[in-house]
Amino acid sequence: MRRTLVIALTWFAAIAGTAAAEQTAIRFGRLVNGAGSVVNDAVVVVDGERIVSVGSGDGAVPASAKIIDLRRFTALPGLIDVHTHMTFYWDRTPGTKPWAQLGTLHPAVTVFLAQENARKTLECGVTTVRDLGSYEYLDVAMRDLINRGAMTGPRMFVAGYGLQITNTPSQLRPNPEWLGAADGVPAVMRVARQQIAAGVDWIKMYGSTGSDQDVTGFQTFTLDEMKAAADVAHKAGKRIAIHSYGPSGAADAVRAGADSVEHATDMDDATIAAMAKNGVVYVPTVDHNRYYVDHRAEFGYDDDAVKRLNDYTQRNFETLRRAIRAGVKIAMGSDAVFTGFGENTRELEWFVKAGMTPAEAIGTATTNAAALLDQSKNLGCVAAGCYADIIAVEGDPLKDIKAVTTGVRWVMKGGKVVKSD
Ligand SMILES: [Zn+2]
Repeated sequence: MRRTLVIALTWFAAIAGTAAAEQTAIRFGRLVNGAGSVVNDAVVVVDGERIVSVGSGDGAVPASAKIIDLRRFTALPGLIDVHTHMTFYWDRTPGTKPWAQLGTLHPAVTVFLAQENARKTLECGVTTVRDLGSYEYLDVAMRDLINRGAMTGPRMFVAGYGLQITNTPSQLRPNPEWLGAADGVPAVMRVARQQIAAGVDWIKMYGSTGSDQDVTGFQTFTLDEMKAAADVAHKAGKRIAIHSYGPSGAADAVRAGADSVEHATDMDDATIAAMAKNGVVYVPTVDHNRYYVDHRAEFGYDDDAVKRLNDYTQRNFETLRRAIRAGVKIAMGSDAVFTGFGENTRELEWFVKAGMTPAEAIGTATTNAAALLDQSKNLGCVAAGCYADIIAVEGDPLKDIKAVTTGVRWVMKGGKVVKSD
C-alpha cells in the first residue's frame, strides 16, 4: 500500500510539474479582442498551442508560469488575411518580371523560396491566411509543411487550382492541360471535385476576367456553372470564394450561393442588399491595385496601366463604402502576390477611410475572417480554448489603425514566438 502511495505521489508531482512548466503567462498593457472588448492589464495564459485563460492583474498570473512582460504594448488576436497567393514567388533576378517568371521555376524550388512570403506575412501580424489559388498544389504542400512544423508560416487554408473557363486573358499559363480549366456544368463539377480530392479547404472560382494589369470585369462562368461549383463545395463540407472584378459576375456569384465574393467593383444595390441579407462576405481587396501602382517598375506597367489601376481602385473603394453602409460583412483580404507580402494588412487603412471604426476594421481581420473560415472557436479570438495566435502592437489600435498596419512588434503563433522586436 505504501508503495502505491509513493507511486501515486510521484505521478501527481510529475503531472503537476509538466503542466506548470508548459504554461506561459503573457502580460499586456491592454488586450483588444476581435469583438472589440478591452481588458486592461491583461494576462493571457498559454499552455502548448492554446490559450487556457485570460485575466487581469497580478492575481491572474499562475505561480509557476513563465512570464513574458509586454505591458508597454496592446495585444490583439493574430490577424487573418483571407485572400493571398502565397506560392506566387518572384526571385527578383534582374531582367525578369514577376508574372513572366511565375511557373517557370521547379515546383519544389518555388515552395522552398516561397517561405520568404510566409515569413513576411507572419511578421506583419498575420497568423492565418486563406490562400486563393495556386498551381500544381504547391499551396497544399506549403500548408502541410507549415502544419507539421517543417516550415515557418501562417496557418493556411488553401484552394488548389482556381476554376477558370478556357482562354481567359488572366489565365496563369493558358494551355489545354491547365488543371483548373472547366467549361460547362459537368466539367465544373469534375474540376471542383478534383480540387477536393487533392486536399483543398476551399474552392476558388474566377467568375470574371481581371488580374494583373487587366482590370476588365467581364463575366466568364454562367450562373449555372457557379451554382454547380457551389453545390459541389457545400456537399463536401467546403466553402467557395468567387472572384469577380465586375458587377454581373458578382451578382451571379451571390445568386449561386458563394460564401465570399472577391474584388467585386461597381456592384448594384440589389446585389449588395442580398449580400447583407444572406451573410455573403465581401472581400474587396482595394489595396491590391495600390500595391501594383507602387510597384509598377517591378511589373513594368506603363502610364496607361497605372491609370486603369488607379481608376479601378477608386471604384473599388466606392463599392466598399456602399457595402459598409448597407451592413455587408466584410473581411480583410490583401490579394498579396510576389513582393506584396508584408503589406498584407494595409487594406485595413482603406476600411477606416471608407467609414469603419478602427474596432470594426480589426473585426474584419479577426472575428469576421474566422467566421468565414468556420473557425470562430479557434481563430480571431484571445480567449480560453482559442489557438495562442496573439500579436502585440505599439500605439492605440482603437484610435489609429496604423498601430495595427505599421506597429506590430511581437507575434505568437500556436504558442510559439515568431517575431520579437
Ligand atoms: Zn487573388
